[in-house]
Order: sequence, then structure tokens, then C-alpha cells
Amino acid sequence: MSETTETIFSKIIRREIPAEIVYEDNLALAFKDVHPQAPVHILVIPKQPIAKLSDAESNDHALMGHLLLTAKRVADQAGLTKGYRLVINTGVDGGQTVDHLHLHILGGRSLTWPPG
Ligand code: C5P
Repeated sequence: MSETTETIFSKIIRREIPAEIVYEDNLALAFKDVHPQAPVHILVIPKQPIAKLSDAESNDHALMGHLLLTAKRVADQAGLTKGYRLVINTGVDGGQTVDHLHLHILGGRSLTWPPG
């Protein structure tokens, strides 16, 4: 398991800064993105501070599965019956800006492809 230093998402987990939290369990937290790129834009994060997907290890497989199923659950809860997109920006070329693994759930409009 790779861990990282403190990020703004650690502060959200600890309720030290505000966020519009839509789901929480013992392993994961989901909250609305502050700069939404679609009508529905929610981030799903592990409470364990894995910096990025490329740092996940084979013993993280249960947590990785949990995050994916949490994203599905949160998307269902958000009413995204016509579909949605999950995005995991990873590292510099992936456009990752916060070094705490997060899944973007984007939906509520027809999304284009490819992303920039
Ligand atoms: O994938 P990337 O690292 O670029 O995404 C980080 C996301 O975290 C951005 O979409 C940004 O708007 C969001 N964010 C947030 N609340 C914060 C800081 C960043 O929702 N306090």
C-alpha cells in the first residue's frame, strides 16, 4: 500500500473544510466537485490516502472494487439513468491535480469523446 502526504481531500474526510458529501461508509467518501464539469459531477475517494491509481497495489484490490461499486451506487443515487462517465486522472499527463486517488462521476448531459 502506498500512502501520501496530506491533501485537501484528507481535510474533507476529517470535516476540516466543507464539502457537499453525498455518500460515506467506512472505506469511501463521495462529495460534489466544487468546479462541476457536468450537471452531475461527484468525486469518490478512498479514506485511505492512496496518492494515485498507479500507486495501488495488488493487496488494494478489495478497496479498488469497493470504490467502483461505490461509484455505481452514487451514480444510481444521483438518478443518472441515462448513463454517466467515470474518470480517474492519473499523474501529470493524466491531468491529476490532487494527489489523493479519486473517481470522477460525470453525468446529466451527453458527454463527448475523446476528452482533451
Ligand atoms: O482529477 P483532478 O485531480 O484534476 O481532479 C481534482 C478535482 O478536485 C477537480 O475537479 C476539483 O474541482 C476538485 N476539488 C474539489 N474540492 C476541492 C478541491 C478540488 O471538488 N476542495
